[in-house]
Amino acid sequence: MTAVTATQTVPMLCGDRWQAPETSRLTDVYNPSTGEIIAQTPLATAEQTAEVIEVAAAALATWSDTPVVERARVMFRLRSLMEQHFEELAALVTREHGKTLAEARAEVNRGVEMVEFAASIPSLLNGDVLPNVAPGVDAEAIRHPVGVCVGITPYNFPNMVPLWMFPVAITCGNTFVLKPSEKVPLSAVRLGELLLDAGLPPGVMNIVHGDKECVDALLTHDKVAAVSFVGSTPVAKYIYETGTANGKRVQAAGGAKNHLIVMPDADMDQTVKQLAASAFGCAGQRCMAGSLAVAVGGAGDPVVDGLVDYAGTLRVGPSDGNEEVDMGPVIRDEHRQRVARYLDIATGEGASVALDGRRDFAGNGFLLGPSVVDQVKPVMRVASEEIFGPVLSVARVDTLDEALAMGRDCEFGNGAAIFTRSGYAAREFKQHFNAGMIGINVGVPAPMAWFPFTGWNRSFFGDLHIQGTEGMQFYTRQKVTLTRWPQVDESHHDPVWKSTGR
Ligand code: NAD
Repeated sequence: MTAVTATQTVPMLCGDRWQAPETSRLTDVYNPSTGEIIAQTPLATAEQTAEVIEVAAAALATWSDTPVVERARVMFRLRSLMEQHFEELAALVTREHGKTLAEARAEVNRGVEMVEFAASIPSLLNGDVLPNVAPGVDAEAIRHPVGVCVGITPYNFPNMVPLWMFPVAITCGNTFVLKPSEKVPLSAVRLGELLLDAGLPPGVMNIVHGDKECVDALLTHDKVAAVSFVGSTPVAKYIYETGTANGKRVQAAGGAKNHLIVMPDADMDQTVKQLAASAFGCAGQRCMAGSLAVAVGGAGDPVVDGLVDYAGTLRVGPSDGNEEVDMGPVIRDEHRQRVARYLDIATGEGASVALDGRRDFAGNGFLLGPSVVDQVKPVMRVASEEIFGPVLSVARVDTLDEALAMGRDCEFGNGAAIFTRSGYAAREFKQHFNAGMIGINVGVPAPMAWFPFTGWNRSFFGDLHIQGTEGMQFYTRQKVTLTRWPQVDESHHDPVWKSTGR
């Protein structure tokens, strides 16, 4: 059963109750393809948020004591439900976010992989044992859940980013409170429904909607142990500082400015297609989107000319229910205006707009075509700021060293890619570029579920990253036990062993 219908107030999940909180504070959810309001997100108060945390805390003892194989089996069942509802989940992402159906399917696939990873967690949760560390003494380290975990997610992957967090946290034995982006709450609600259908006991997964008031309540509540955040850098920094000041462990992934280095020996046809896919896929609203192409030596003209020709052929249009588009809208009209303003800022600073995506589109969707800005210098705002829209800046440099230097000066450090036929250049780049996720002839080097999502610099605040073994480590804490069993005098040995419980 679907809890959300058109223009309905989006419900929260508190234990086994789906209900919208009593509040006059609501924010609109749009279909960016049409500009229509499709639902309203209630913004929970601090008290309403605390109520949800208490429910998650109450469910903790029983869930953390549930055998890990049973916890993992919920993930097997969730995976099968996601497969069964695959097209519906993808259509919902397109409806509330605006990315194309092909992009939405790719997103849901990545989410399914996270559930598969979570289902395999029993084999990662094995502890370590070292027998006889002293005569007759054995040592063991085993992993325990940390407690109530919180996930705060951005608008750009409504399905996948929540799945980066709760499947791993829950299978590790924690209970969870998800606060999805208020702009795209519908996918998260649908995942919550599927989790309950998969047999998750009530209270283990909870969903609260809100803005800063709700987030602050999550960051400061005594019963929250850990906070996972994905979003923009200023908010990531705030979440990290506030959460850790309140004694939580925090992993906070932030924004990005991803560099795409093109060497003159690259296969230009393939490279141009990869640059366009990286910069304009999901209308540029990916934390791994290429945003600054750095053309080395003679690569400048073929890159800019190729991009203008190729990006000019991309079909831009409403993506909801329409597979005949290559690029959908951006999330909101204000965001479209903000992104478009960067083209004026760039020309004001002396760059030239080689392809201008500002056009009149039919309908009321938040559409903006792809843009290419040429002659960008490192000091310009389009070279350093996260635009998060379909704008690719191109800087021209003489050497790979200059390209590496631009990376060293970048405040972010999420992803970067090089396009080349030279193993030497690729190795130099891999070894020295100042970012945590590297592509070699791969335009969007986003790690899969089994690897950590390793942003560097101001693209990540914390220690243990999301995904992979680090993700599991984040959601567990270790307990080390030293054991000595002195030999028992058989004449005093009580043969009846009773369980004392915990
Ligand atoms: P955002 O920072 O505006 O919002 C993210 C979450 O924080 C939302 O749930 C929102 O409700 C909450 N929030 C917003 N302002 C807040 C405040 N002042 N106090 C407390 N909570 C607040 O991000 P967004 O616009 O939804 O998403 C786009 C950003 O996310 C981009 O910067 C993108 O690069 C980044 N992102 C990063 C990654 C990564 O892995 N590094 C992945 C996806 C998106």
